[in-house]
Amino acid sequence: MLSGRLAGTVPTTRGTVLNVTFYGVRGSTPCSGGEFARYGGNTSCVVLDGPGRSPIILDLGTGLRVYGAEFTRRDMDGAVGEPFRGTALLTHLHWDHVQGIPFFAPLLSAGAELDLHAPIQAGEPLADVVRGFLSPPYFPVEIEALPGQIRFHDTEPGRFQVDDATVTAAWVPHVGPTFGYRVERDGRSVAYVSDHQQPTAGPAAVDPAVLEICRDVDLLIHDAQYDDAEFAQRPDWGHCTVDYAVEVAAASGAHTLALFHHDPGHDDRRVDELLVSARELADLRGVPEVIAAHEGLTVTLTPRVELARSVPDGRSGAREASGTTGQESVGVGADAAFPQVAVGR
Ligand SMILES: [Zn+2]
Ligand SMILES: [Zn+2]
Repeated sequence: MLSGRLAGTVPTTRGTVLNVTFYGVRGSTPCSGGEFARYGGNTSCVVLDGPGRSPIILDLGTGLRVYGAEFTRRDMDGAVGEPFRGTALLTHLHWDHVQGIPFFAPLLSAGAELDLHAPIQAGEPLADVVRGFLSPPYFPVEIEALPGQIRFHDTEPGRFQVDDATVTAAWVPHVGPTFGYRVERDGRSVAYVSDHQQPTAGPAAVDPAVLEICRDVDLLIHDAQYDDAEFAQRPDWGHCTVDYAVEVAAASGAHTLALFHHDPGHDDRRVDELLVSARELADLRGVPEVIAAHEGLTVTLTPRVELARSVPDGRSGAREASGTTGQESVGVGADAAFPQVAVGR
């Protein structure tokens, strides 16, 4: 349980909330089965939003389909009524980060607009690269045939604005051109480093550009693909150990570390075990909080970091109980007792 671990306050500027919701937490390839039921099997997709703000989507893996269905359902209920308008920040173009694009239902509505940022590609415009895999014979529909519009932004490292959010993109060691992102809004900050090659020789120093985007963030969402034995077998596959994720959090002063990009070979019990060991190391290294991201989890950043929703006994019951979005928001104020949650049991 997390009780007590999140009791510490994070001094940030008061303002509206920033919700961080996980729709896909898996790396490499989707997986399904009862042994993955609690953490989920969809690949990378995280949505940042808040009241009156257009969403920022971090990666477009298969979890994007779930977010799109939720958005469309809200639309049918009349709660939204407007075409989708939002921004996607792609870390890179590996399958597990883009396969949700053609299954994003809001793009099937005229008037929908998605601004898509991704690392500038060598020698070829981003739009052409995406069209290369979103066209026959790989997929039967061309992007131009979608009623909604995707605007492509060939993005260089650096800082830019998305509405009232400040985004910083930085190169992250991985396989091929890959960004990590820092998003700041209303004095709150989230860093997203989904795929991160751990140094294979010498001290496990953290790349300065990665450290910079993670510096003192409220929430660091980080690659946690391997345990030590797996990393020894796959040292150059572009990823890192759970312990290295803790080291990045410690070195950068991140408050809450969310283990992410779980290996498809890690079932729920294994992720639980890795979370326990990560917390033990975090206690030693002075990282205040570690959680393991799972589908349906919303972390709400207000003047203090709050875990807004988790699922005690498998996700399906809570989703049915909520009846709408599958998100059960449990607000936690300064004086509220923190609820027990499933992760880490
Ligand atoms: Zn990946
Ligand atoms: Zn990758």
